[in-house]
Amino acid sequence: MAKGKLFIISGASGVGKSTVLKKVMDGRPDLQFSVSATTRAARPGEQEGVHYYFVTHEQFQKMIAEDAFLEYDAHNKNYYGTPAQQVEDKLQKGHVILDIEPVGAFNVQKKRPDATLIFIEAPSWEELERRLRGRGDTAEDQIAMRLERAKWEMEQKEKYHYVVVNDQAQACADQILHIIAQADME
Ligand code: 5GP
Repeated sequence: MAKGKLFIISGASGVGKSTVLKKVMDGRPDLQFSVSATTRAARPGEQEGVHYYFVTHEQFQKMIAEDAFLEYDAHNKNYYGTPAQQVEDKLQKGHVILDIEPVGAFNVQKKRPDATLIFIEAPSWEELERRLRGRGDTAEDQIAMRLERAKWEMEQKEKYHYVVVNDQAQACADQILHIIAQADME
């Protein structure tokens, strides 16, 4: 019997999810982050084995063939996948947090119906749009694609057990910590 529980956290890009997640992990040092494999390039400051395992397309395909993923999905022309064995091992030690998008979240839920799904939402659609546009690096057609994806992701929130609004990162993290503390008592 696993010692920990599985928590899946999703939220549209631009919602400030990584800041919130960092505060959640700081608030509960016993929480373990599931490190995904991805074919996308590392961004500045991202560390191999901490934020992601950065792999080639060939390596990713090999992992699919070996049935190494609890789930995987393509997103923005790159693959992302949750290594199954890693999640198993971590659950033996305690709670595990998965930061994955809704398609992956629902696929994990099929295999692990006991997982708790938490959706981080922007304070408003206008705010999310402002944040997505504010990323600066993007051409208009890319922004349009991101907005469309964000809209679809927001529509999925009803399928989550909890929706927390990221108005202020610490307050949002505190709500998530509260949900985890509640699960500890179950
Ligand atoms: P980013 O490239 O910004 O780090 O992540 C893009 C999206 O991929 C985010 O919504 C993130 O939650 C999602 N993601 C990260 N790892 C995984 C994974 O292992 N599986 C799935 N399905 N999505 C993931």
